[in-house]
Amino acid sequence: MNSDFYLLETQLDPAGRALLDRVRDFMEKNVQPVINQYWIREEFPHDLVPGLAELGIAGLAYDGFDCPGGGCLLDGMLAMELARVDSSIATFIGVHSGLAMGSIYLCGSDEQKQRWLPPMARMEKIGAFGLTEPDVGSGAAGGLTTTARKDGGDWILDGQKKWIGNATFADHIIIWARSLDDGQVKGFVVDRGTPGLATEKMRDKIALRVVQNAYITLDGVRVPEENRLQQANSFRDTAKVLRLTRAGVAWQATGCAAGAYEHALAYSKQRQQFGRPIAGFQLVQDLLVRMLANVTASACLCAQLSRLQQDGLAADHHSALAKAFCTVRMRETVGYARELLGGNGILLENHVGRFVADAEAIYSYEGTREINTLIVGRAITGTGAFV
Ligand SMILES: Cc1cc2nc3c(=O)[nH]c(=O)nc-3n(C[C@H](O)[C@H](O)[C@H](O)COP(=O)(O)OP(=O)(O)OC[C@H]3O[C@@H](n4cnc5c(N)ncnc54)[C@H](O)[C@@H]3O)c2cc1C
Repeated sequence: MNSDFYLLETQLDPAGRALLDRVRDFMEKNVQPVINQYWIREEFPHDLVPGLAELGIAGLAYDGFDCPGGGCLLDGMLAMELARVDSSIATFIGVHSGLAMGSIYLCGSDEQKQRWLPPMARMEKIGAFGLTEPDVGSGAAGGLTTTARKDGGDWILDGQKKWIGNATFADHIIIWARSLDDGQVKGFVVDRGTPGLATEKMRDKIALRVVQNAYITLDGVRVPEENRLQQANSFRDTAKVLRLTRAGVAWQATGCAAGAYEHALAYSKQRQQFGRPIAGFQLVQDLLVRMLANVTASACLCAQLSRLQQDGLAADHHSALAKAFCTVRMRETVGYARELLGGNGILLENHVGRFVADAEAIYSYEGTREINTLIVGRAITGTGAFV
């Protein structure tokens, strides 16, 4: 049963719908059957990357530079489709295509876009995005401690990062650091193997265990000026990337909720109690309809946000509202799905348990509910309440 209750897919052109169908088919046939085992082992399914690359989904929101260029709505619905089956794979693509390629697309010169985006669109090269630090999360705008020092035609980076998705194997890591020259935040593309760059896998997460998050140490890492993103001159430019990707996370949260709802609906039709399917009980239908309402409201909100993005009308607060709202609704929805499955809801084999756990990470990354709420609060009242 498809959770697209208000037929949002009809707003895509035939090529867009066909792409979503291919993605759904790939995710259901290749990811769903194996993903729990990777989740248990905290491993990333590298074998699936060529198949994901063949789908042509990296860089869907961007035009030119060999990117597929399908527009914001299709890119958002893709994030939902991926997360509907697995949030870790959705996050892998979100980090690579959204955060890393998005940084280059929005903050790079034409030469840099030409250099990096085509192989990343083909997923021959994988990207990561390093903003968060061990002691600096929500306060990244003013608090980054990683530094960049000019040395002739190069830059020297020093500092630490934490939580950086894909970083254990990524070819290009975007590192955001504060320039000791002018005090502004700048972005640098640091290639795997650069001396002084070390990545260490974070272990024992209870959410998104398939995503390979890393601690990064930068110890005198020398980066040529040609690897400094030429249009990233302050944190305002970093925020442009986050505006784009927070919208993607809102879609992802909607997909996570949709997947949990669909598992719960299917379960309700086959699970029998008191001599009949539990789907026939009023209180079970109440849970299902609450879930569907959450998914539908979130998807419609996200679709309008994508239209605003496409028309160049989306501001930070639009993405922030969607990220905060959809992640709250997601958390509620996966909880209802877990409840509907009874004890079976905590068994990984029924998938919903993984959705419950993974939702916790989606709820907090790319700006917590509190931070996104403060962004919206500032926009509607005219008064910043961040301190
Ligand atoms: C699975 C996962 C993947 C991630 N991937 C990446 C990645 O690829 N790249 C990257 O750069 N980062 C990544 N992150 C980091 C993520 O963006 C941060 O976790 C997030 O921004 C929150 O920061 P924090 O965890 O340090 O929490 P903190 O900032 O320490 O916040 C702790 C609590 O305090 C609250 N709080 C903080 N400030 C305020 C305030 N002013 N008013 C009210 N409440 C406040 C927060 O809302 C939160 O509830 C990832 C995180 C996770 C969990």
